[in-house]
Amino acid sequence: MKLESDGVLIDMRPLGERDCIACIFTHDYGVIRAVMRGAVIAKKNRPLVGQVGAAAWNARLDSQLGVFHWEAARNMAAPLMADAVRLAMMNAVFALIASLLPERECYGALYAATVDFLAAMANSPRPVDTYLTWEAEFLRDIGYAMDLSSCAGCGTRENLNYMSPRTCRAVCDSCAAPYADRLFRLPMTMQTGFRLIERICAEQGAVMPPARQILNMY
Ligand SMILES: [Zn+2]
Repeated sequence: MKLESDGVLIDMRPLGERDCIACIFTHDYGVIRAVMRGAVIAKKNRPLVGQVGAAAWNARLDSQLGVFHWEAARNMAAPLMADAVRLAMMNAVFALIASLLPERECYGALYAATVDFLAAMANSPRPVDTYLTWEAEFLRDIGYAMDLSSCAGCGTRENLNYMSPRTCRAVCDSCAAPYADRLFRLPMTMQTGFRLIERICAEQGAVMPPARQILNMY
């Protein structure tokens, strides 16, 4: 059994003294976890979180953890390292993908959005907006598409200042009035995105990634 795809290395956890369990978000197969031999002690071509490259996954049986061969093409995290805010946002993106995506299911649009996010973040004058654009794509791809074009109650396209956390649809000021305390204010912020993801984690029995929680200060 062998799978090959471009990917982004999004997580590495030590396994013994030499190896790690790596998590790669691949273009063709989504999230794959496998052993990366010698990753911790590599002197040259050391695998690093934030690299994009070519992943090859091998296992004797489909159900096995398997082993990665990883050829990094470039390190997209390098330009973000000097800025704590940008780095924190990259870490949140990787943590959300690793926590909430099922393994080995293709998310092609989200993969493209994630590579775009890494490239854009290096020079973005408004990192929060760049992050929230990615997060909206992430929510859409995991089944929580926001529809903010018209009011879910009356259909108007004006005064859309609230969103229902249940349906992810916009609600106008007058329809929102009786329930305003139960709705999210628009536009979306780090805090409203967090509350939405917190609810999704609860529904899926997943743990809210601490890396996403940290972003609430921005
Ligand atoms: Zn309305």
